[in-house]
Amino acid sequence: MLRALALALALGAAVPAWAGGAPAVVTTSTDLKALVEAVGGDRVAVESLAPALHDPHAVDVKPGQLAKLKTAVLLVRIGLDHEPWLARVLRAVNDPRFRPGGPHDLDVSKGVELLQTEIARVRSERGVHVHGFGNPHYWLDPANARPITQAILEALGRLAPAERPAFTANRERFLARLDAGLARWTAALAPYRGARVVVVHDSWPYFARRFGLEVVAAVEPSPGVPPSPASLAALTARMRESGVRLLIAEPSSSTSLVTQVAARGGARAVTLVPSVGGDPGARDYLALFDVNVRRLAEALAAAR
Ligand SMILES: [Zn+2]
Repeated sequence: MLRALALALALGAAVPAWAGGAPAVVTTSTDLKALVEAVGGDRVAVESLAPALHDPHAVDVKPGQLAKLKTAVLLVRIGLDHEPWLARVLRAVNDPRFRPGGPHDLDVSKGVELLQTEIARVRSERGVHVHGFGNPHYWLDPANARPITQAILEALGRLAPAERPAFTANRERFLARLDAGLARWTAALAPYRGARVVVVHDSWPYFARRFGLEVVAAVEPSPGVPPSPASLAALTARMRESGVRLLIAEPSSSTSLVTQVAARGGARAVTLVPSVGGDPGARDYLALFDVNVRRLAEALAAAR
């Protein structure tokens, strides 16, 4: 305890000591929380600022979570424009350690090959999640867990060098299970390669690329923007013309909109889970894909 205190004093009062219990890591999503846990195991205490299911524009961060961030040694985030609510949180915490690019800030998008970076989108209003710097839903390609956990391993290993071998071993065990999962999910969806789908929100391009689905269109004409009657009519006509059999919704999608698009477009609707914890079965990162692949395979089989 005295040694921990001395270390804290040596590092300066603003920097919490790593010694003395599991260090705190804060993430902006439940998916990143699950991936930090895959690397950190029981050697870290992880908390997500956002719940599994939320409106990306309106995450309500509680005072208790702000307190957690103040004692955390690392903030792990999706980056791009995925967390428009985070700037307000960081202003409230007012801790220079979490300055973007600093040693206690980890933007895991840096190690990922992004999709849709060429789509020019102007921010129509301040603080809206519009996929303006590329599509931010990259955690939905399970293969991206490799670079993401690599970045987490580097950050945790730098902050706690003595724990690095344990973090490395945890990650290796996780990657072995991930590779087994990738083989299982790829085999389950192999019969449906090339299937054409429409999505409500454009959350699935990474997932679709990994498993060979073709995303023909999104119901939202631009991310977060509800469709006009004219754009809905054009979309459902296109769905019928191009033989789209499946509409991918999320738990937050409007039920009446999903029912209407599916009926008018001649497609079957399936609800996939966008984040760990968004469904009781999706309790960790690998289970998220077990749930989604099972739902998708069943829906595609029924939609044939
Ligand atoms: Zn989005």
